[in-house]
Amino acid sequence: MQVIKITPRGYCHGVVTALQIVAQSIENNELKKPLFLLGEIVHNQNVTKAFKQAGVVTLTGENRRAILDTVTRGTIIVSAHGIAPDLIIEAKNKGLDIVDATCSDVYKTHDIIKEKITKGYDVLYIGKKNHPEPEGAIGINSQRIHLITNEEDINTLTLTNQKLCITNQTTMSMIDTKDLMNHAIAVFPQIEIINEICPATQQRQEAIINLTQKADLVIVVGDVKSNNTKRLVQLSNSYIKTKTVRINSLSDLNIEDLLDQKVETVAITSGASTPTIMTTEIIKFIEQFDKEDQSTWDNNSTVDIQRIIPRVKRKTN
Ligand code: SF4
Repeated sequence: MQVIKITPRGYCHGVVTALQIVAQSIENNELKKPLFLLGEIVHNQNVTKAFKQAGVVTLTGENRRAILDTVTRGTIIVSAHGIAPDLIIEAKNKGLDIVDATCSDVYKTHDIIKEKITKGYDVLYIGKKNHPEPEGAIGINSQRIHLITNEEDINTLTLTNQKLCITNQTTMSMIDTKDLMNHAIAVFPQIEIINEICPATQQRQEAIINLTQKADLVIVVGDVKSNNTKRLVQLSNSYIKTKTVRINSLSDLNIEDLLDQKVETVAITSGASTPTIMTTEIIKFIEQFDKEDQSTWDNNSTVDIQRIIPRVKRKTN
């Protein structure tokens, strides 16, 4: 079967760095043990499983504060999504070691927000409710940073501050973010626009929007919790306008989708937190798939998830 490999796809620099930081922490004997991940390091259950097998405990809870409340010893690892600054202080006060795997693009947004707050602005922040990245950004100053999830959130704001800016979670849809920013301008004409979709997210979304080859089926590989994966599905539905399915691994693939007589070419992309080996296995499977030959239909994933953990480079003397 024909496969269109949408490029770029998969891991971004922030995820690669975060995984390397956790792998290095496992090997670092100077860090207090156990190692606790404060929420999933990136939103992918295969990654979480791989680190669990390596002895790193992923803690979950209502929010980062609630999770931190449960930790009394060892080391906490902050995920790529970042964290509110006061929680870092709280962790230090508890005597915990802290490893920070926050993506540099998330820190860039935090720095912009901090600067605007210092200059007296109120900040409108477009993001997803209950997602750790908005939680960390809004935690910089929850009185002056306002979560925006839809137009109604903008309409119902009662702000007298003339200094206003609007920014966003790094992994939002480019299209939805632009629409919400335009709506904010209509309501608050003086508002400053600071678009913080990260380059990795933008490039992966543009690759879908600009796909010129005809695909009969689109597969987005990624976790149900991954925001950037969801946005790829959303854009595929809007722009490629063909059946789009999201799967986490080869085993999730519904063979009936490939057996459909209309399906001859499949386009594949993956979210920024999706391990490359999961996507590669799916691509190889579909390339060898033959509707007429049942021996090519066995889609049990054989990926060794320990291969998701990057190798730690050791110093040589
Ligand atoms: S999607 Fe963007 S912000 Fe998120 S980890 Fe990757 S590069 Fe960083």
